[in-house]
Amino acid sequence: MSQFWSQRTHDLTPYVPGEQPKDMEYIKLNTNENPYPPSDKVLAAIQAASDEGLRRYSDPIGNDLKQAIADYYNVDTSMVFFGNGSDEVLGHTFAALLKQDAPLLFPDICYSFYPVYCKLFGIESIQIPLNENFEIDIKDYEIENGGIIFPNPNAPTSIALPLDDIETLVQKNPNSVIVVDEAYVDFGAETAVPLTKKYPNVLVTQTFSKSRSLAGLRVGFAIGAPELIEGLERVKNSFHPYTLGKPALAGATASMLDVETFEKNRDALIETRDWSTQALAELGFDVTPSSTNFVLALPPEGHSAEEIYLALKSKGVLVRYFKTPRIDKHLRISIGTDEEMQGLLNALKSIIT
Ligand code: PMP
Repeated sequence: MSQFWSQRTHDLTPYVPGEQPKDMEYIKLNTNENPYPPSDKVLAAIQAASDEGLRRYSDPIGNDLKQAIADYYNVDTSMVFFGNGSDEVLGHTFAALLKQDAPLLFPDICYSFYPVYCKLFGIESIQIPLNENFEIDIKDYEIENGGIIFPNPNAPTSIALPLDDIETLVQKNPNSVIVVDEAYVDFGAETAVPLTKKYPNVLVTQTFSKSRSLAGLRVGFAIGAPELIEGLERVKNSFHPYTLGKPALAGATASMLDVETFEKNRDALIETRDWSTQALAELGFDVTPSSTNFVLALPPEGHSAEEIYLALKSKGVLVRYFKTPRIDKHLRISIGTDEEMQGLLNALKSIIT
């Protein structure tokens, strides 16, 4: 609190990222990072970009990265935007496309950054409750709106919405932008990128932080019709034109081109998720069907999520506990390596039996 803050600063409720404690070596399963490191090709590209000279500004247009993303998704480069993590891409999206006269709609349980951006940019919003199975029911979105945004698969529920449902939502809202936040799409959902070529009002956002093991490099991107991308570029270039440094541009480009490592790590993660889900169920947890690199797990009767979260932490295992209505009975557990998941299960066994 300070007399020097603007009224808007006073009114903000900033986002709180998952904890990163340094007091001991943890099995870290709380921020949905990838357990596998980026490939040697990516590391070599980052090194080469640094050696080549950080004295110069990075390329504000970033055509190589745009081309790599465009080729991967078979779209034109005019349909690609990138930024400093998908958080920044989302921030520009809220400012450029989602601040309208009618309210923005998003699920009551979803990425907790959305209400933060609404406050920052002064955007009216309505939170639409997920159904009792934690699913999005598109019929609930048939109300006047100035835009719709949701993660697909949703976070922290891990549940995916079928592409047909997304297309119906897009068709029913021809005058609003529909933003599909695909931070976790590579782990099991169908991307809505094909819709961006058919409809002028769909924007898909993705990140290199999860399926591409580059959370620390901070690169995210969006794909949509050229007019939507132009809107994002206008906001970006009114705020900070050099969003990505040279190492980030080079590392993300190399990562997009390294399809083999991407697929190998994704498949390994899915395999680990599937056996871990089974093992958690055998311990009495009720686990939602996950299309992501995390699971949402309801502890067995007689154990609260908060108690298990704290007990795990004391044993050196970090998972995410949200003290917020409707999901405060669950734990969100990121999928680690086989060894890390075995460590989690051993710790859980000693807590609940
Ligand atoms: N969307 C969702 C649903 C997320 O969970 C996250 C990660 N916290 C992001 C976007 C942002 O990811 P990043 O900024 O690392 O790209």
